[in-house]
Amino acid sequence: MPHQFHDSLGEIEWIARPRLTQLRRLGVESVEDLLRHYPRRHEDRREFANFPSEESEQPICLCGEVVKTQIKRFGGWKKIFEVTLEQSDAHALSQPLVCRWFNVHYVQKMIFGDQRLVVFGKPRLRGKRICMEHPEFEIIENDEEISIHFRRIAPIYPATEGLSQRVLRGLIFRLLDECEDDGLAIIRELHFPRSWESLGSVREALVREEFLDMQMLIGLRRARARLRNGRANDAEGKLLERFLRALPFSLTNAQARVLEELRRDLRSPLPMNRLLQGDVGSGKTVVAIAAMLLAVESGSQAALMAPTQILAEQHYEVLRRWLEPLGVAISLRTGARSADGPTLFTNPQIFVGTHALLFEPEGLENPGLVVIDEQHKFGVAQRARLTSFEPAPDVLVMTATPIPRTLSMTLYGDLDVATIDEMPADRGRIVTAARDESKLPEVLAFLRRELEAGRQIYIVYPLIDESEKLDAKAASAEFEKWRERLRPFSCELLHGRIPAPEKQAIMDRFRRGLTSALVSTTVIEVGVDVPNATVMLIENAERFGLAQLHQLRGRIGRGEHKSYCILLSSDPSPETLAKLQVLEKTSNGFAVAEADWELRGPGDLLGTAQSGLPALKLGNLRTDAKLMQEARVVAQKILRDDPDLARPENQRFRDFVVEEENFSHVS
Ligand code: ADP
Ligand code: MG
Repeated sequence: MPHQFHDSLGEIEWIARPRLTQLRRLGVESVEDLLRHYPRRHEDRREFANFPSEESEQPICLCGEVVKTQIKRFGGWKKIFEVTLEQSDAHALSQPLVCRWFNVHYVQKMIFGDQRLVVFGKPRLRGKRICMEHPEFEIIENDEEISIHFRRIAPIYPATEGLSQRVLRGLIFRLLDECEDDGLAIIRELHFPRSWESLGSVREALVREEFLDMQMLIGLRRARARLRNGRANDAEGKLLERFLRALPFSLTNAQARVLEELRRDLRSPLPMNRLLQGDVGSGKTVVAIAAMLLAVESGSQAALMAPTQILAEQHYEVLRRWLEPLGVAISLRTGARSADGPTLFTNPQIFVGTHALLFEPEGLENPGLVVIDEQHKFGVAQRARLTSFEPAPDVLVMTATPIPRTLSMTLYGDLDVATIDEMPADRGRIVTAARDESKLPEVLAFLRRELEAGRQIYIVYPLIDESEKLDAKAASAEFEKWRERLRPFSCELLHGRIPAPEKQAIMDRFRRGLTSALVSTTVIEVGVDVPNATVMLIENAERFGLAQLHQLRGRIGRGEHKSYCILLSSDPSPETLAKLQVLEKTSNGFAVAEADWELRGPGDLLGTAQSGLPALKLGNLRTDAKLMQEARVVAQKILRDDPDLARPENQRFRDFVVEEENFSHVS
């Protein structure tokens, strides 16, 4: 009887039991799992090339007979294993090929005279001989094997421990033969394509299917959020007007446009779920505050959540400075500190806090708007918890890190996006320069000139794990050095292990200009705002990611003065150079994000656990970006045409809820 997709592999008796264990380690349990264990790439083995007489950069696939094996020794105990191959259907003129392995002991136990071998690699000229070093190889045992593994475009699977290409290919080949399913033809073609053209088209079809599933999931999540009862935060805008009039600047066009969008969302009885995007320093916070004032004026409360205590406290200070003159009562709630400003009303109208806000929401009874700063540090479950109020508050998510468009379409696909794509006009320029550590003396002279001109500076260290005592000690040691170097200018040390009240005091002194230099870990990464600080020196810059470096340098260039970001590094590798050059060349966060993506390749940037989305098996968000955009349009159309799909009683919706519950355990 043919196997079905949902059958467990354990029911198939010709699969050896130890294989089942190995497969399970890959998360492969059912027939479908194995058939959807897609190849990483394919290799053209339709025709074996003639043995070459020259070297080439292009790897080639050759088939030959082993005429000689030999072990040579060099440097005492080191060994080279050499295998000489001759072309089977000999061609009188072709030279033999020598395959060489250095110190790989298992190979010599596998290859013997008279075997037939297929090798894949780059031919190199070594003396007069044509050689391949460490080629991929397969030994041909019988003709059936030839038909599976050779004379075709052969699939190459992601490397897995204990399971050779051969074994996987053999399992999948046989399973495809013994299976029955509507989708089979296309899956077979993806594993064992008849031509490169057909491979291209079936791959595209499967990627479309995968992307559509993902966009349906996102679309359903979004539609479900809209099924909830929201509230109409309808305010005349008097309070907002007073706020805007008191600001020492006027909003940029982009800020004004985004604020208008938010205002429309707030007014509507549908719950708002919006992402507020914008580069570091583009003025997102001001817009978020304006939106909170609209909520407050309409008689609700507003909450602002930040990812760290420092940030929450800083937001609190900013809000007090700007809003208390307007008579708005603000309360701070973090794990370590609670404070209420002088309250003119019985209840606070705006809450500022960290996650603690989620778990001790006392007093937060009537939230009309919840603003989540730096969303990427919050998990789905936390967001879900905050939005569990009835009726649903409007939710505004602010990201500090610009992300590539295709990514935001997936990661934040369930949110409407508003983008502030313009910087305030008064911004000084930031010049970024990557320098080798050996240039420290010149850099130091430069720092001193800036300090003498009355500016302040940041010196940043990459402490990977702040919980480690060792790191704190390293920072302290470095701090002593800097104190010497910068004398007589005052210098303070800030890191994550300093108790909160003291941290706050250190930041205050820096903000007020009482300290000239701040030696710090990345605790200053987000939100810190000191316009007079014009230089940031980042040590061991190679250890940071691009996005993080961009984020860090957003702490300077906040005032009228020209600012300088110096990236010190002792790593001369081309990768580091390429990375740091991106920052020298562009100051636009979105461009940095795209370049980062490009450099890092298709790694798991999706942060699957946090986004609550399943990992992609086949599609590549970067190279298949166009297909993702199309899938999004299709999913939106399906949901528009059939809104009932999102109703709780719908079967598909139920599956979706189950998956969502699973995610919340992850985050
Ligand atoms: P973001 O949160 O996007 O990084 P902020 O809202 O913290 O940016 O704003 C950065 C700085 O710019 C703050 O000091 C803020 O007061 C100031 N700012 C905001 N909007 C404007 C504007 N339109 N013109 C001048 N300065 C502004
Ligand atoms: Mg901010």
